[in-house]
Amino acid sequence: MSDRIDFMNLKRQFQNGENEFLDCIKKVCRETAFSGGKYVEKFEKEFADYIGVKYCAGVDSGTGALQLAVRALEIGSGDEVIVPTNTFIATAWGVIHNGAIPVFVDCTNDTWEIDYTKIEEKITDRTKAIIGVHLYGQPFEIDEVKKIADKYNLYLIEDCAQAHGAMYKGKKIGQYGEVACFSFYPGKNLGAFGEAGAVVTNNKKVYDKICLLKNHGSKERYHHEELGFNMRMDGIQGAILSCKLKKLDGWNDRRRVIAQRYLTDIKNRKIKFQYTPNYIKHIYHLFEVQVDSRENFIEYMETNNIYCGMHYPIPCHLQNAFSFLKYSEGTCLNAEKLAKSCVSLPMFPELTDEEIERIIDACNKY
Ligand SMILES: *Cc1c(COP(=O)(O)O)cnc(C)c1O
Repeated sequence: MSDRIDFMNLKRQFQNGENEFLDCIKKVCRETAFSGGKYVEKFEKEFADYIGVKYCAGVDSGTGALQLAVRALEIGSGDEVIVPTNTFIATAWGVIHNGAIPVFVDCTNDTWEIDYTKIEEKITDRTKAIIGVHLYGQPFEIDEVKKIADKYNLYLIEDCAQAHGAMYKGKKIGQYGEVACFSFYPGKNLGAFGEAGAVVTNNKKVYDKICLLKNHGSKERYHHEELGFNMRMDGIQGAILSCKLKKLDGWNDRRRVIAQRYLTDIKNRKIKFQYTPNYIKHIYHLFEVQVDSRENFIEYMETNNIYCGMHYPIPCHLQNAFSFLKYSEGTCLNAEKLAKSCVSLPMFPELTDEEIERIIDACNKY
């Protein structure tokens, strides 16, 4: 039996940079810069430069970033926010935990990103914002969504948790929205050694507010100006992220090479690819495909010792957690169909050429 190929393998990345990573951690420990502090501030500057925005606030997770972004825009009780249903559920947590209501919109049947033609019908006089998600590492149709946001005077919030370094019409995503939220969960393209996230923006007022909120509502120690949270980034995460940020473009390039191999060499018509417009730079956080009898396919791949994922098997509008919103099956048909047929092929920069060959071969023989 050939060696196991995992859907994702973080151990290889660690092994390749072990000494460098451990040196970063040692520095933080020796200076006891554990919560916030100089390593976090250094990373915040570097990441703002990388994305091409003025401000970056490091926070405790991508979920925290979304929650703080919604709150900083003063969206709350009674408000509605447009959210794509084909996403990881955390996109909606920031809305719901501020007392607002997520209003779910279907994805398209080819890009699997938010279908902008279905947004306007969901807008009411309570709608305050649209959260667009650059899902799988592919930017959504930003210009069209932005047009709608501008027409109805809504904020555009970008959920960039899966798209560090992706580009739309030649510009990095994260600079299009009023605010943009990143996750550095370990498995993301830029991953911390634990939980971490960031909010980026060009809006000084929003940035200041997030800095206040994440730090107990306080600028000056023991003076609390408003109801706050403890949502700061750890020093160790800041140091590790600085170190890894230098490698991100190389890793993304490698993901794109692997994706190109899949796209050109998988010829099996039973496997349907995501459509990517030519003005988009996809950075393949996930390589998602559609296969009709999905469970069959996944089992078949496992007999070849190749392990796949699914993103996501239940769309947000049908999650039990949101049953009180009373969506029924049939309200977001593209997302529902995708949920039943999506498969994520193995995708991480350290996949070897031989492994890629084996994956392609197995797909073609299915
Ligand atoms: C991972 C993810 C989040 C949440 O980030 P965490 O750091 O895990 O809290 C939010 N939105 C999307 C689309 C994600 O993939």
